[in-house]
Amino acid sequence: MTGVAILGSTGSIGTQALDVIRSHRSEYEVVALAAGRNAELLAAQAAEFGVDPRWARTTGDDPEALAELAAHPDADVVLNAVVGFAGLPVTITALEQGKRLALANKESLIAGGAVVNEVRRKGGGEIVPVDSEHSAVYQCLRSGTAGEVLRVLLTASGGPFRGKTRAELALVQVEDALKHPTWDMGAKITIDSSTLMNKGLEVIEAHELFGVDYDRIEVVVHPQSVIHSMVEFVDGATIAQLSMPDMRLPIGLALGAPGRLHQPFGAIDWTTLSSLTFETPDLGAFPCLALAYEAGRAGGGAPATLSAANEVAVEAFLARRIPWLAIAEVNGEVLAKGVGNVSTVADVLEADRVARVHARAIVDRMAEAA
Ligand code: MG
Repeated sequence: MTGVAILGSTGSIGTQALDVIRSHRSEYEVVALAAGRNAELLAAQAAEFGVDPRWARTTGDDPEALAELAAHPDADVVLNAVVGFAGLPVTITALEQGKRLALANKESLIAGGAVVNEVRRKGGGEIVPVDSEHSAVYQCLRSGTAGEVLRVLLTASGGPFRGKTRAELALVQVEDALKHPTWDMGAKITIDSSTLMNKGLEVIEAHELFGVDYDRIEVVVHPQSVIHSMVEFVDGATIAQLSMPDMRLPIGLALGAPGRLHQPFGAIDWTTLSSLTFETPDLGAFPCLALAYEAGRAGGGAPATLSAANEVAVEAFLARRIPWLAIAEVNGEVLAKGVGNVSTVADVLEADRVARVHARAIVDRMAEAA
């Protein structure tokens, strides 16, 4: 029996993880649950999966409560599905304790980068990505050795605004940005998909997870979201992972790794799949992707700064305080203020705090001017 802690259990990833476990009750036992706010759904989940009420809590973003739940002695796998930077204590605790971290919260790895990898080395924990692209890369990498990898190709759906000009993007409303063409996800990541910041953060995530240089990570727009990413090897062979867009597949892989669960999610019906198409991303219309490469290459506190600025900007956009185009402007302006170095968890927290202060001031200025 594998013990699983699901932190962020009432969100999109959390509910889909419980759906996977529902069909594998004899192999997996849910031992801890954390919800941000939804106490009613949390109580129903705890009752259904037999979780001790002391280990099923609404934590909000409380770092101590999240760390405590991640440290459950019977949790072999910790699924970090907390939204945003608030997921950092879960990532750190799970790895410190040598557990398997099923990582859906990319922000903690992006902001923590070197610090998280150091904790992973010392604690002996393992990260299995839940992000669909990184799950695909994780699978493709089994086809060769690290020295044989030439390029990692992350696919992007392009989001709801693919093909739009800057003039058209100036008119975008919150409702438009929340309509993702292929994936059904939470609000933060859906907005990040519309700006391509999600893909940019995934570039940094791929660098941290797999140790591949930024020059070897490329983004390919693939609107059907059937190829979830690819790895090109030195002999010219490209290995791709294909499935219909269904997060239960990467969640199941993270639970069962290195094995696969006997439950098909996202299996392809080839009689209905007519074409797979590819484009290069438009960096002029979607500058967030270029900003992420810039922050990743700069290293130090830059990824933490960009990710924090982006959380503030996305919140402000969702609250209708700034227009969609301003999200990239806030991010660029905060990043340009310069960043410090990051070698401890305290440094990561400080980089995040300073970036939020800068971002809020810029948002206030923009909102007043509008
Ligand atoms: Mg993804």
